[in-house]
Amino acid sequence: MSAVNETLIRDVVADVLARLGNVPAAKPAPAPAAKADCGCNRPATTGARGKFGVFADANEACAAAHESFLQLQKGGIAARVKIVEIVKAMAEANAEVWGKLELDETKIGRLDHKIEKLKIIKLVPGVEWLRPDARSGDHGITLEEYTPFGVVGAVTPSTHSIPTLSGNIVNICAAGNAVVFNPHPSAARCAAVAVRAYNEAIFRETGIENIATIIEKPSMESFNTMCKHEAVRILLVTGGPGVVKAAMQTGKRAICAGPGNPPVYVDDTACMKRAAKAIIQGASYDNNLLCIGEKEIFALESIADKLMEQMSLNGAVKLTNAQLDALTKAAFTITPGQGGGCGHAAVNKDFIGKDPIVLARAAGVNIPAGTQLLFAETGADHPFVVEEQMMPFVPITRVRNLEEGVARALEAEHGYKHTSIIHSHDLEALTAMGRSLDTTLFIKNGPCMAGLGLGGEGYLSFSIATPTGEGVSNPRTFTRVRRCVLVDNLRIY
Ligand code: NAD
Repeated sequence: MSAVNETLIRDVVADVLARLGNVPAAKPAPAPAAKADCGCNRPATTGARGKFGVFADANEACAAAHESFLQLQKGGIAARVKIVEIVKAMAEANAEVWGKLELDETKIGRLDHKIEKLKIIKLVPGVEWLRPDARSGDHGITLEEYTPFGVVGAVTPSTHSIPTLSGNIVNICAAGNAVVFNPHPSAARCAAVAVRAYNEAIFRETGIENIATIIEKPSMESFNTMCKHEAVRILLVTGGPGVVKAAMQTGKRAICAGPGNPPVYVDDTACMKRAAKAIIQGASYDNNLLCIGEKEIFALESIADKLMEQMSLNGAVKLTNAQLDALTKAAFTITPGQGGGCGHAAVNKDFIGKDPIVLARAAGVNIPAGTQLLFAETGADHPFVVEEQMMPFVPITRVRNLEEGVARALEAEHGYKHTSIIHSHDLEALTAMGRSLDTTLFIKNGPCMAGLGLGGEGYLSFSIATPTGEGVSNPRTFTRVRRCVLVDNLRIY
């Protein structure tokens, strides 16, 4: 049902209720005054004029977002639609400039993919996603509507700062909320540029100045202040295990888009060329920064050589054992005696999201210009298999059969329940892996991004709520379901 239909239904219900009660038809309830009815004791207007969303102080960022939420309520569905349109159009129009800005600040990933991630914000759903559910029967009609919470407190990652922020604004504001961002400190400047630009355009079109606010210099302290602020009703965090744990400890409801370590299983029924190309496409995307990206491959031993041959034929470069050892020493700090037989491996941040040439140099190998991905054969307990490494390199481990492949994949995924991938045409293998891994995204015979609507059916979000179970976030994720019941009337047959 469209937003127009939704408004129509609301009007009809209001009209009928008015006639039943013999009172004049209700006009839409005026939004509460900014300070009086908001349930928040802080002043609604704290010098928020002219900031266009960018605040030094976390409390002010929350209060300004709350004031804008109240304005958005008054603006109705039309204002939400306008905000969504503006963000989608601006993300596309500014993709080159903002993509470069983000890469210059974070120094991780690839420019072509940073640009693409902004151009595809248009694939995030909007207001049309909020279809009310209706029931009618002998006792009248009931309408269940998806209504806003108020202000959402959001945390964004360094891996895709402006894309996550932009997609979050679309989803959160389409649902009628405002949002405050505590961005990753190493990707905060570019995020603030985008927030200011969005708010300036939104203000011109709607008169709402701070629908998405950002804490200019984010810190743990500003995160805590944001989470504690009484106007912030729910949290959306996108990041690794640390922030997921921190969000869950706040006492507020947290929608957590947490870490992944997606395993891939390839068997002898798959098309090797297609599997190799998909693995290269997915694992090299933005230098493997995607949380859904292919991170380790388990190949049936009968086809492992064929798969590696196809990977080489399609442009990936295979490392020898000695080259792999050299890369591993550079890419991880291994503390012997901790974390099991191989010791504890910590990823060296200098290698995260870097170009293949950087990894090749550490491995001591020359690679052709334009190489997108490196790979090597490893054991199942290798740090490149176990850790979420986010580098344009994939380890390939041979397995004897489906049972071993699924068991290894399950172990490598660490129970994050994030993403798993299979290349197979064996229905039993597809079912067995889907059931065992139990991941939020399960992609068959395609690259990881097919799971987000890029080459597969579906829609996009850069926040996939994994441990908390909401899945690929969309406008409905940020709503409260409210029921409106009319007893014994309105049914027309
Ligand atoms: P990160 O965990 O270092 O940082 C993410 C955000 O959390 C940042 O804003 C950071 O400042 C904040 N943060 C980190 N620890 C915190 C704590 N203890 N308290 C409060 N805030 C804290 O992650 P990153 O390197 O920016 O991003 C990569 C990680 O995010 C990977 O683990 C990846 O899988 C995950 N990720 C998940 C999704 C998803 O949709 N599920 C999307 C993107 C990234």
